[in-house]
Amino acid sequence: MSVEKVDTLVIGAGQAGVAMSEHLGRRGLSHLVVEKNRIAESWRTARWDSLVANGPAWHDRFPSLNFDDLDPDAFAHHDRVAQYFEDCVAQNKSPVRCGVTVTSLTPQPGGFRVETSQGVIEAKNVVAATGPFQKPIIPPVVPASSGIHQLHSHGYKTPGQLPEGGVLVVGAGSSGVQIADELRRAGRKVWLSVGPHDRPPRRYRGKDFVWWLGALGIWDTTTPAPGTEHVTIAVSGAHGGQTVDFRRLAGAGMGLVGMTARFENGVMHFAADLAKNVAMGDANYLGLLQQADAHVAKHGLDLPPEPGAHLIGADPGCLTDPVLALDLAKEGITTILWATGYALDFSWIKADIFDERGRPQHKNGVSPVPGLYFLGLPWLSRRGSSFIWGVWHDADSLAGHIAAARVTPA
Ligand SMILES: Cc1cc2nc3c(=O)[nH]c(=O)nc-3n(C[C@H](O)[C@H](O)[C@H](O)COP(=O)(O)OP(=O)(O)OC[C@H]3O[C@@H](n4cnc5c(N)ncnc54)[C@H](O)[C@@H]3O)c2cc1C
Repeated sequence: MSVEKVDTLVIGAGQAGVAMSEHLGRRGLSHLVVEKNRIAESWRTARWDSLVANGPAWHDRFPSLNFDDLDPDAFAHHDRVAQYFEDCVAQNKSPVRCGVTVTSLTPQPGGFRVETSQGVIEAKNVVAATGPFQKPIIPPVVPASSGIHQLHSHGYKTPGQLPEGGVLVVGAGSSGVQIADELRRAGRKVWLSVGPHDRPPRRYRGKDFVWWLGALGIWDTTTPAPGTEHVTIAVSGAHGGQTVDFRRLAGAGMGLVGMTARFENGVMHFAADLAKNVAMGDANYLGLLQQADAHVAKHGLDLPPEPGAHLIGADPGCLTDPVLALDLAKEGITTILWATGYALDFSWIKADIFDERGRPQHKNGVSPVPGLYFLGLPWLSRRGSSFIWGVWHDADSLAGHIAAARVTPA
């Protein structure tokens, strides 16, 4: 079988692979992008039907292309985001080959041997751009024999796909909180299991929170503060974009419980940490307002004060008198929807650079294996690395590294 040779092989044509191709192309570096499905597949099929971007159109994009048909403050539907990355590929004339699955990657002298569903490719450099969210995680809490319908947020599309009855949503990051609210609006009885989270204000003093994260330098934070790396952010662009407010959700009839702990004899037990988790989210919310106020004062910005935003409502009953156990049958709960995140899966890379959680060793995406790069992972170089705007800048820096390595004597 003939072996195809390329300078740089980019694996994955999500936003990371598309950005990588743009920057390699800008530098005149020969490359090929292979994608097992379609361009921006995650934005097409790994999202629920109603999902819109979490950031406004002026922000959740690459600097090289606007969403011309959208109000800059609007939140693009996920299908529009997928189209956007198609448009980027067309604009950049990126060499993307779809329908090619990489099955193994082995370092060899002068580069890598890459086995794919369409034959072998030899590459001097490889950029793994296979996504920050690869394998849905469902914690082994409820056995399949329980008879309860269980699914991960990855497989959720629309309320009508779930069996009749109540739903326990586990996880209150952006996915869990948005899906729980959608199910509640669809008339379901919903319980939401809330862990530690950040919940920034959607807008403050006339600016979206993504603007504030930029202005305050938070997007560019390079090292996660101890213990904060895995704190999920509860934000939503749904319904024009609203601050996630657990008290308001409780007031609208959603049952809130603490972290899901264990399942016994049809009863789900929860930690007594709901009040603490909500209080931490409040502190995060108020902290951002205070940092924003200090920024306005320091720079003399003309942004209208918003004292009402600092008011936190009264605690609902679920905070003062927490529910610690739910008998699922008695409560009419027929579905558990796990919005519990994802793990990485780089088992196809034959190199000894992964920790016990499958995370690769790297510095800003540059791995210890010469010529092997990672792109799009959370905190690759900064907080924004796994987001649309952030990955573009990381791709620029990796392309610079690849260009420099080509002219550096061995
Ligand atoms: C529900 C949800 C909503 C999000 N909303 C936003 C948002 O609004 N704004 C924002 O900035 N970020 C958002 N994110 C975060 C992030 O932007 C997305 O996860 C984004 O899809 C990551 O892009 P990526 O290119 O790194 O990975 P992906 O989009 O997952 O792309 C990886 C690609 O690699 C391909 N691939 C994987 N393995 C192989 C292989 N072995 N061979 C060949 N191809 C392979 C996959 O098919 C896929 O197309 C969201 C994430 C989720 C889960």
